[in-house]
Amino acid sequence: MSSSTYDLTVIGSGPGGYVAAIRAAQLGMKTAIIERYPTLGGTCLNVGCIPSKALLDSTEHFHAAKHKFAAHGIECGGLKADLAKMIERKREVVKKTTDGVAFLMRKNKIDVYEGHGSFVDKNTIAVNKLDGSESTQIKTQKTIIATGSKPWSLPGIEIDKKKIISSTEALELTKLPKHLIVIGGGVIGVEMASVFGRLGSKITILEYADRLLPTMDADLGKELHKVLRKDLDYEAHFNHKVTAAQLSRSKVKVSAENKKGEVVEFSGDLCLMAVGRAPYTANLGLENIGITTEKGRIPVNEQLETTVPGIFAIGDVIRGAMLAHKASEEGVMVAEYLAGQHPHINYRAIPGVVYTWPEVAGVGFTEEELKADKVPYKSGKFPFMASGRARASMDDKAGFVKILAHAHTDEVLGMHIIGPRAADIIMEGVMALEFRASAEDLAIFSHPHPTFSEAVKEAAMGATANRMIHL
Ligand code: FAD
Ligand code: NAD
Repeated sequence: MSSSTYDLTVIGSGPGGYVAAIRAAQLGMKTAIIERYPTLGGTCLNVGCIPSKALLDSTEHFHAAKHKFAAHGIECGGLKADLAKMIERKREVVKKTTDGVAFLMRKNKIDVYEGHGSFVDKNTIAVNKLDGSESTQIKTQKTIIATGSKPWSLPGIEIDKKKIISSTEALELTKLPKHLIVIGGGVIGVEMASVFGRLGSKITILEYADRLLPTMDADLGKELHKVLRKDLDYEAHFNHKVTAAQLSRSKVKVSAENKKGEVVEFSGDLCLMAVGRAPYTANLGLENIGITTEKGRIPVNEQLETTVPGIFAIGDVIRGAMLAHKASEEGVMVAEYLAGQHPHINYRAIPGVVYTWPEVAGVGFTEEELKADKVPYKSGKFPFMASGRARASMDDKAGFVKILAHAHTDEVLGMHIIGPRAADIIMEGVMALEFRASAEDLAIFSHPHPTFSEAVKEAAMGATANRMIHL
């Protein structure tokens, strides 16, 4: 057993942990990072953001080639999708990305410890390799817990990883399911439904709420549902609370309770559990330092410090949205705070993006939140149907940009987009919120023509007064 002393130790190498470690090292701290697995990057790089986007892109190309290229005068006779090859490409993308993080650790002289980290006491962390081959203890002044999250399941339903799977197994499927039942119409549900639906699987989504993506502005999920119905062999059952899932020969039978309290049964070849993720704190030794979790999450104050001075927590393991960029912002914030700076995160200005086609993105207040809080607001909504750029590309006419502004001050309070490249154009909304811009500000910016971003200008003109030009 060896022993080293660090200014800062980070437990977990996801986008929260590895970014925190880099920023701390930049600021002169002697930094260590502990990761259970041999590859760095956490959920996001290994089994989350990056692999899912790789498969979403591959399947989007296939779907476009099959259904949209002919209109451009491009004939694709003999078009075939090779799922196994897509998975192989996805693995390469993941490997290059996680290797990149390992390089960044070396570049910033951060010591990497492979193994499960657990607190012995406030300043001592044990690291045990998962195969039991090695164990080490390191001494540290300060610690950031960035242990992330794991797939969650419903009570009484076990993810057996064969017939009832989580997103982790879905990202490794090499055989296309004929009929995929997706429990949960949230972010993972609609992204994974898109991957397999585009390749030809029949998709059934069972969702407890009354629409897809229930945490986003209500117009977004409703519009996405319409597009998925048109583009894929897809159906969704809303107001259905899944209560059980059983294997029956080669099928999976899923039972759900509808609004009237009736039990409805669905049968498919494979079932994807996508009802959220649980913070991961197993065997972290929190009891040895006196930290108690609340609903599984580690409680933190405004500086993201836990109830134990000198121990901080960030990312999926604490409150707030489970998003990679949120975790990274928090990592930077804690490192800068430890270096004596005064960083701040504006959580309202953190965007959420769903990488379906069309993409879905939102930032700021939703219309439902403004109504509930009785905030006087006005809105401008511009459909991509009226965008020349959308018509010229893939005839991407579905969707809209919606801007919500304060009725009296014109301050932008929210931007919600479903449409082509929403993931990128939402940044205009993020800037507006950070700079406390007015809808008028967005309306007077010159937007290049022809671009999808012109829809933002038009929606802003709609929000300032009813003065959209192209509608
Ligand atoms: P994680 O990324 O979960 O990393 C935690 C790390 O800590 C893991 O590597 C784990 O092995 C390690 N660890 C845990 N306990 C210990 C221990 N005791 N000792 C040592 N190591 C430990 N977010 C987006 O913003 N955009 C997306 O497009 C997106 N797509 C997603 C797609 C999928 C399928 C999934 C599942 C998630 C997606 N997310 C996305 C969410 C995103 O992955 C998470 O919000 C993000 O990874 C959280 O980062 P984190 O650093 O808090 O934790
Ligand atoms: P989610 O919270 O987005 O969606 C879960 C859905 O399951 C909800 O709509 C909920 O109403 C539904 N649900 C819960 N219990 C149910 C029941 N008994 N029957 C039917 N439906 C039920 O969670 P997720 O999709 O699993 O994603 C997990 C996390 O990963 C999210 O926090 C998300 O932010 C993150 N993620 C982000 C991205 C992205 O940013 N593009 C992609 C994937 C995942």
